[in-house]
Amino acid sequence: MCPYCGDDNYVKNGKVNQKQTYLCKTCRKRFVKNREKNAYGKLIREKALNLYKEGLSLRKISKLTNIPHTTINYWVRKYKLQ
Ligand SMILES: [Zn+2]
Repeated sequence: MCPYCGDDNYVKNGKVNQKQTYLCKTCRKRFVKNREKNAYGKLIREKALNLYKEGLSLRKISKLTNIPHTTINYWVRKYKLQ
């Protein structure tokens, strides 16, 4: 799972310092897989999206959840909530 957007849409992207890196095809960020514990879980994503549905601004949701508003914006677009 991509630690930036939580998607599983990634490909292998070569090795850096002996570590396999991956390129997320959804958000185009590179990451190393052993940091999965830092990934946003499904629950936090649902929470953020629920707050959005309740009418909170991206900035406010970002403050409440500690998720970058760009990531929330990505989720909103991906799940077609707009
Ligand atoms: Zn991603």
